[in-house]
Amino acid sequence: MRAVVPSLSPSLRTLTLAMAVVSLVCAAGGRLPTPLRAQSTAPTPGAPASLSSAVPAQAEPEGPATAAPQDSPRADAPPGFPPPVASYDIDAALDPAAHRITGRARITFTNPGQVPAYSLRLHLYWNAFSDTGSSWLRQAALDGSGADGTLEARDAGWQQVTALRLINADGSPGPDLLGGLRFIQPDDQNADDRTLAAVDLPAAVAPGETLRLEVEWTSQVPRTVSRTGVRGRDYFIAHWFPRLGRFGAAGWEARQFFANTEFAADFGRYDVRLTVPDGWVVGATGTEVSRTPDGRGATTHRYAQEGVHDFAWTTSPHYVEHRRTFTHAGLPRVEMRLLLQPEHSGQEDRHFSATAAALRHYGEWFGPYPYPQLTIIDPAWGTGFGGMEYPTLFTAGTRWLAPRGTSEPEGVTVHEAGHQFWFGLVSSHETDDAWMDEGLNTFSEARVGSLTHQPDYRVERFFGGFLPWQLRDVALSRATDYNGLDGYRRAGRGDIQATPSFRYWPGTHVATTYFKTALWLHTLERHLGWERLQPAMQRYFTQWRFGHPRPTDFFAALNAGTGEDLGWFLQQVYRTTAVFDYAIDTLGSEPVRTQGVRPARLADVPVAIDRTADGYRTTLVVRRLGDGVFPVDVRVRFADGSEVRERWDGRGAWQLFQYDRPARAVSAEVDPDRVLLLDVARTNNSRTLDPRGPTAATHWARQWMVWVQDLLLQMAVLV
Ligand SMILES: [Zn+2]
Repeated sequence: MRAVVPSLSPSLRTLTLAMAVVSLVCAAGGRLPTPLRAQSTAPTPGAPASLSSAVPAQAEPEGPATAAPQDSPRADAPPGFPPPVASYDIDAALDPAAHRITGRARITFTNPGQVPAYSLRLHLYWNAFSDTGSSWLRQAALDGSGADGTLEARDAGWQQVTALRLINADGSPGPDLLGGLRFIQPDDQNADDRTLAAVDLPAAVAPGETLRLEVEWTSQVPRTVSRTGVRGRDYFIAHWFPRLGRFGAAGWEARQFFANTEFAADFGRYDVRLTVPDGWVVGATGTEVSRTPDGRGATTHRYAQEGVHDFAWTTSPHYVEHRRTFTHAGLPRVEMRLLLQPEHSGQEDRHFSATAAALRHYGEWFGPYPYPQLTIIDPAWGTGFGGMEYPTLFTAGTRWLAPRGTSEPEGVTVHEAGHQFWFGLVSSHETDDAWMDEGLNTFSEARVGSLTHQPDYRVERFFGGFLPWQLRDVALSRATDYNGLDGYRRAGRGDIQATPSFRYWPGTHVATTYFKTALWLHTLERHLGWERLQPAMQRYFTQWRFGHPRPTDFFAALNAGTGEDLGWFLQQVYRTTAVFDYAIDTLGSEPVRTQGVRPARLADVPVAIDRTADGYRTTLVVRRLGDGVFPVDVRVRFADGSEVRERWDGRGAWQLFQYDRPARAVSAEVDPDRVLLLDVARTNNSRTLDPRGPTAATHWARQWMVWVQDLLLQMAVLV
């Protein structure tokens, strides 16, 4: 997800406000669950205490780092897509007058685990929007945006299961399970939450065995919330059908629906028939197989796709369709389908080129996109559907006025297209380890952005976002702006990243999930070099494509791929809230003067001396002000143009450097190449002995005058 600032609907404004506040990058992450118990910042249970000892430093044989075969890429997988674990055959019809969907799904589940499945888990996500008792809404009220968690009845959404039965091997109806279906709240014990249901099975499903069941349901489409719902006749329908939880090594890994985290499901085949009014455009996961009018005003659109773990769709009479084909040497062709709002006509090139940039660079760096089509949805103004990823489909987001030289819509488009890799193909657990998809994707998106849509000037928007104000003096940079350094600096102590993401404090979850990860990965890139980091990330992608990795799997791939034990760094950024801050504490450079008493020769009586040598003694003290430890370079420049550069391991509280040289020192800087992007206070990293204040002041005054002049010129347009 990448949160674009939504325009406020009169209804559900509290929800959209809650989302607007995290307006930079995809707002996954975890809002604090509502129970009154204290939420700990304990690392994931069962994870090894030391990353250094948990992961090998040398290259290891290909294969998963954990022993969980159901989480691993399968050795017996045929070329192409993996064997299905959870497949869905769905018929669903939309009643636009009542904003209601009725559906029937036949689900085929093959136990991928090591233990039998004695019961089933069904996600009923839309019940998060049924009443303010839900864990989603109770948490949304905590995020500090001013939202109060209110909900008007006419805006609510819900899901009701109306039939649930097994299907016998011969296709006949099996035992009815509906009576045993019950809501459960394993994550926060909030009895009012109805987003996760369980039902016991009459007979266990052994590992490798297959179960078929049929579920019928009715759901009320909510007013736009969490990037799904309806506004007017614009529908975006996501996490909308009763969906099985993910089955892991030891059983179900299903969680309730939380406001700042997303989903987890198994791969399978989807074959979905959607009935909507004639003439309405449909966009959906997969590719269109057929379109059948019923002669009574409705048309059924059939979409199918193998090897995906979710299915989302949209319909509206307003979309204008554009198509283009992505081709790039060494990568498979991809049909790009764009459903654009009519008022954004002329921006199709920007959507296609940003999507192609993601397909190309992610494809070259990590691995190819394997599906035949990728659908880009440009959501209608004010719907709040923008900036969210689903398999083979995503929502971007743009404006009527989108100046060239800015990254809207390119930034969000690259981000959501990029999620096809970090989410769609490498399917980490988004509720527990949100940083694994959002953080890796923020890092990757920023890298693409720095190569493709440049220059990228800061834009301020006025009049409800309608009027853009481009600041051509302020170019955004990958290292700081794209990585969200400011956001991270304010929240560096927010939560230990190893905490399950849905337990992150709501006010700082974005910084911990997105920004911190992007910053530590970019720091690693600068520390190791991209030529070493890229193969390691490619190794991870290849190993876990169509798999469900956990954090230690990523760390193991990094260590193996770089051939270096990075535990010293990963331990700090993942298992602690250590912040990094190196500073020049002292810099002095004076003539070398010797005073006191000293014998001229060994046997002589000491006599007073006071002599000054030709050179200068430079004294430099560098301090580690944070608890984070990182090796840093220290550079000292001298008046004769020479310089000294040293490496400090950064471990002590301080380090003294002294030089006797012919020239006086003029400046000193710690981490002069800015490798350590996690450094929270960059201004203390350098010190100069020749006061350059007047020069700097003149420089900034000039910059300021240019900026003001630019502003006045732009304002003149309004006069
Ligand atoms: Zn995202």
